[in-house]
Amino acid sequence: MMKRRDIIKSFTLLPIAGGVLGGVLPSKSLFAAPRSPKRDLFKELGVTPLINAGVTMTFLSGSLMMPEVLEAINSTAHDFANMYELQDKVGAKIAEMLHCEAAMVTSGASCAMVLGTAAAITGTDEEKIRQIPNLPEPRPEVIMQKSHRYLFDQAVSTTGAKIVEVEGPADMDRAINGNTVMALFFNAAEKSSITHEEFLTVAKRHQIPTFIDAAADVPPVENLFKFQKMGFDLITFSGGKMIRGPQSAGLLFGRKDLIEAARLNYSPNEAPIGRPMKVNKEEMFGMYAALMSYLERDHQKEWQDWLDRTKRIKSRIETISGVKGETYIEPGPANAFPSLHVTWDQEKVKITPQDLLAALRNGTPGIVANVVDKGADKVLSVGVVLLKPEQVEVVARRLKEVLQQAI
Ligand SMILES: *Cc1c(COP(=O)(O)O)cnc(C)c1O
Repeated sequence: MMKRRDIIKSFTLLPIAGGVLGGVLPSKSLFAAPRSPKRDLFKELGVTPLINAGVTMTFLSGSLMMPEVLEAINSTAHDFANMYELQDKVGAKIAEMLHCEAAMVTSGASCAMVLGTAAAITGTDEEKIRQIPNLPEPRPEVIMQKSHRYLFDQAVSTTGAKIVEVEGPADMDRAINGNTVMALFFNAAEKSSITHEEFLTVAKRHQIPTFIDAAADVPPVENLFKFQKMGFDLITFSGGKMIRGPQSAGLLFGRKDLIEAARLNYSPNEAPIGRPMKVNKEEMFGMYAALMSYLERDHQKEWQDWLDRTKRIKSRIETISGVKGETYIEPGPANAFPSLHVTWDQEKVKITPQDLLAALRNGTPGIVANVVDKGADKVLSVGVVLLKPEQVEVVARRLKEVLQQAI
């Protein structure tokens, strides 16, 4: 429960932030304008639209869909389609675009992991597809490097499979047995005791299917082609991160027999494990449109635009004595794009990065940025890749304002 005192405090804080901002903004129209001339559902439901000066985050609704995606959704919503046929055709086209045998649209990378693991367990066996995740003993096993264990591997356990942790290629080689159904590689893991190549060599020696989770690993666009070339059997990317498709969509692609088995474990079939994770017709068309748009984008130009954005914000805030901005390119593989790291002399600008973060979030408009560790220090990280063009200025102005208020 919030104490009365705290409530009063938060009430008195709000008008101050709003008042100052109101004076600085050129016009209120940017935020006051309804998104549709007819109906503003944000307003109607009292949901606050936020500016994402961070990275793609699920709690912030992933990313903003490209106009092509919205067009695909709108233009396909008016007719029925046979979902088997749609998955056939969309899958074939995506496979062609990604130079692999087969592909399918899933409800995100997590769903792709459930379906990929299920496929490795059941193949096309109808009885097993009915039973999963309650399969007779012994439990199927999935190999993972110990340092690759992460939150998302629960998607693997969802199928009833047991995760077997290994360290180093020799250990992996020993761990594979008659119950092993798959080996999962987390591409963005910080440490690996087994390289991609070693992982593939050992798995192939035992004819175990390999799955790589590269959910957040574009840009660079080349990563969409890299892992099938290396020899991974199944690959997943999120649709709702930098590909900018529907946040509830994702891609699973690779070996034809495994994609066929994954589809048998998925909607529109009535009762398999993947049924509660279905993706609708519009999102499937949308995912296709998003991938096409992503592949055709001028990535060099986009990268330059991101760099320009960090420089623009930097030049605005560095007019305050003691404040420094530095363009930082995350080495990846996940979120490998530029952002602006902001530091300041806290003797001169008396606010901590955490408090500044809160001020941005609680201001009007609400801006979500991040605080990251840089050695022993905390640094404010301002993301630019998810900002709408006009929001770059808004973020710069608001950041400068909060910093100035702390002098
Ligand atoms: C985001 C992410 C997922 C989950 O992807 P969804 O598309 O949100 O289901 C899985 N693995 C990794 C490494 C991710 O970054």
